[in-house]
Formats: sequence, C-alpha cells, structure tokens
Amino acid sequence: MIVPQLTCRALLNVHLRKNMSRPSSDLAAFREIFSKSKSVAVLTGAGVSAESGVPTFRGEGGYWRKWQAQDLATPEAFSRNPSRVWEFYHYRRELMLTKEPNAAHLAIAECEQRLAEQGRSLTVITQNIDELHRRAGSKNLLEIHGSLFKTRCMTCSHEAANYQSPICAALQGKGAPDPDTDEELIPVHHLPRCEQPGCDGLLRPAVVWFGESLNSDVLQEAETVLDKCDLCLVIGTSSVVYPAAMFAPQVAARGVPVAEFNMEDTPATRSFTFHFHGPCGTILPPALSRHLSEPK
Ligand SMILES: [Zn+2]
Repeated sequence: MIVPQLTCRALLNVHLRKNMSRPSSDLAAFREIFSKSKSVAVLTGAGVSAESGVPTFRGEGGYWRKWQAQDLATPEAFSRNPSRVWEFYHYRRELMLTKEPNAAHLAIAECEQRLAEQGRSLTVITQNIDELHRRAGSKNLLEIHGSLFKTRCMTCSHEAANYQSPICAALQGKGAPDPDTDEELIPVHHLPRCEQPGCDGLLRPAVVWFGESLNSDVLQEAETVLDKCDLCLVIGTSSVVYPAAMFAPQVAARGVPVAEFNMEDTPATRSFTFHFHGPCGTILPPALSRHLSEPK
C-alpha cells in the first residue's frame, strides 16, 4: 500500500540521495542483479511509445487542431463538446492502426515469457494507453491510465474492449488533426452508444482524464506488484506524473534495486541504483537479453 508514511520516506530518500554520487551505469552489474531477480516490476511511460511514433499531444508542437491533451482529455471538455473529444480519440485510435510495437516493447514481452518459463515473473505497469505492450505480447500488464481501445458507459458504467474502426459510422473519415479542419458537431445520439440491453447511454473512452482518479482496483494491483518485486525498471517515463511518480522511489526506499532507462535524467534519478541513458529501443534489448546463468 502507498501510505502517507511511505510517501514521506520515499521523498526523504530522494532528498538524502541528492548529494550522493550519480547512479551506476554498469550494465554487467545490473545484469548480475537481473539474473537473480524473481519478481520484476517494469514501469513504462510515453518515452517507450515515442519510438513507435505515437504522439502525446503535450509539450512543444504537441497539438491536435489548436488543442493539447490537457484541453481535451478532461471530463469538462467531454461534457461541453463530446463530439470534439470523440473526434480526437477517434483520430488517436485510427492512428494506432499505422503504428507498431518497437524493440523495447518486444524485449519486455520476450523477457516476461522467458522468465515465466523459469518460474520467475515480470509485470508491466504502464501509463501508456496505446496497447503497444499488449500487441508486443505482454500478458502481465496493468494499464493504469486505461486504454484507447476500451469504452465506458456514462449511464451504466459498463466497460468494454472496442477495436471497431471506425468506432461509429458518424466518425468515419473524421478527426483530422490539421488546425484549419472544420469542426463536425456530431449529434450526441450518433456518437458511440452503449450496447448493454436497454441502456443506449453515451460511451466515453475508458482512459483516466486530467483531474480524475486512477481505478482503485488497478492501483491496488500495482501496489501489490511493487510491494513484492525484487527489481524495478523505470523505462521512458519522466517520473513526474502522480501517482506513478511515487512508485519507483517507494520501491527504492525499501532497498530494492531500481534501474532507470531514459533519454534524460529525471527528478528521481539520483534515488535509483542504475541509470542507463539512451533510446529505450536501443538500450533495453541488451539489458534484458538472456543472461549466461539462465537455462537455455
Ligand atoms: Zn450503458
């Protein structure tokens, strides 16, 4: 469980390590620990998807029409203009049909399968909503921010996987990202609707929007994985999005090795045991490949 005391301890740990030396970048030393670990927790973020060309619609140049994710990925934006928000998500769903998992996704999935054969475990806890881990073959997967390919009914709360393309007839050919695109203003009864018997409520993407809480069941599962892991990898995430930002420092605070793989240092870097610098698709495969001590 993430309890306030632990949170404080984790913060204290970050603070205490601020003046300590940089984390190690000794790959052989990491591989020794990796080869002996029984339960690996893998936290991933946008950096992993970026190498597959998945946009975040955040930061410099990150626009859909004239908006960024924080303008559209909110309950307020959806209640004001569900047609616009559905155009945005329709565009993102269709875009994923043109994207593929990259070497980092594949290395993580292959590692999970190999460790399972040895009676060891690997679980991915991801902030990404694009399902590229799933498509790469990851099975132990907690999508803490939901998925582009799930819907939730605004009336009955039913959640369902949904891979239809387009998700509804009215969105066919819509969602163009160019700033001069005319807005569609699709009538609400033509937007995706619930198919539960007798419901017909308006569906929304089953993703966690700005200002919303994480699903408590998924969060509880993530905490269980983090409580029992004996190695934690933090891959392609800036570790600034809460509560995910707390996960790795929390693990580090109980003395478990944490290895960060990222293009840059993050606010938590100095609390970790290892830091490997570079594109995830390049630095991760050699780190997770079969160790000499593993059975063939
Ligand atoms: Zn419903």
